[in-house]
Amino acid sequence: MGRRSITTESALPSLIIPCPRCAKRMSFRSARTTKAEPRILDTTYACDQCGAEVICTSFCRHDAAQAA
Ligand SMILES: [Zn+2]
Repeated sequence: MGRRSITTESALPSLIIPCPRCAKRMSFRSARTTKAEPRILDTTYACDQCGAEVICTSFCRHDAAQAA
């Protein structure tokens, strides 16, 4: 029958991060990789309430990268 396959797309991190100051929900602001390590992705969240920013660092896996 109809089986659903759940695919988790990793486009944008849909994490809901509480603000460390006012505990409000933070919203996604930007994401960029660091120059030193292209596999590290810095995702910046900003609080709409107090303007606090939180940077979440995540590791990007390149599965089928250039096989030397
Ligand atoms: Zn806040």
